[in-house]
Amino acid sequence: MNKRKPEWLRVKLQGAEKTHEVKEMLDRLSLHTVCQEANCPNLIECFARKTATFMILGSICTRNCTFCNVTKGQTQALDPKEPDNVAKAVEELGLKHAVITSVTRDDLPDGGAHHFSRVIEKLRATQVIVEVLVPDFQGSGEALATVINAKPHILNHNIETVPRLYPSVRPRASYARSLELIKSCKELDNSIFTKSGIMVGLGEQEEEVISVLRDLRLAGCDLLTIGQYLAPSDKHHPVIEYIHPDLFKRYRDVAYEMGFKYVASDPLVRSSYHAAEVADILNK
Ligand code: SF4
Ligand code: SF4
Repeated sequence: MNKRKPEWLRVKLQGAEKTHEVKEMLDRLSLHTVCQEANCPNLIECFARKTATFMILGSICTRNCTFCNVTKGQTQALDPKEPDNVAKAVEELGLKHAVITSVTRDDLPDGGAHHFSRVIEKLRATQVIVEVLVPDFQGSGEALATVINAKPHILNHNIETVPRLYPSVRPRASYARSLELIKSCKELDNSIFTKSGIMVGLGEQEEEVISVLRDLRLAGCDLLTIGQYLAPSDKHHPVIEYIHPDLFKRYRDVAYEMGFKYVASDPLVRSSYHAAEVADILNK
């Protein structure tokens, strides 16, 4: 389906001139953001508000998810200055809540877990709330423990879609492994908030989404995001359906009934969109 986007998905492009400052800083510090690499529809809004989601471990991914715009292929050496530079960027932007994600580095023995922990430690030395959106580390409990031991406030791992669609959407990932990661996080450190996200419009059924929400809750997931999938290009997984905002509201209500502590469910929600809104929940 490649019909025109519905009204509710049209983003306002005002504020583009205000994004320059953030882009200049990212270049200066040799940092990547998922905002740019994933071609996020909220980039102008977020950069104009001086928020961004940093993408560490390089800009090339070893996986091949069919929905994702991040470059795949030959990976780069890790930048030893990256932890310091992320901390500098967070300070320059004046962020109270920093979201750090990464490409998946199946080529590294620890999947990049130690690098993640160094970034978290740098940020934990400040007052900022630290949210990490981690890859599955190929199910390595040791890699996950390395990240958890650095004590992020929030550990996010996106489930992305319903299990039936994994072979065509996340061919090198596993639904069970992703659920297990969230469960293990809670077992390792119950004080860390767990978060996950799902994209809709990839061809899933409503009952399948509800079933994923139930699985996430049973795994101990606290915070949830649900957003409309938008294909980055014709070569990516097609958008099968534009989900009406009413169904997003219904998913949100169902998720709250299940006991999630915070739910953002709206067509333009991304896992890091308005991430700082959870501050009140963290302080309870
Ligand atoms: Fe970046 Fe997240 Fe904002 Fe998108 S929603 S521009 S990924 S901070
Ligand atoms: Fe994109 Fe993450 Fe999949 Fe890599 S693992 S292709 S960065 S969604």
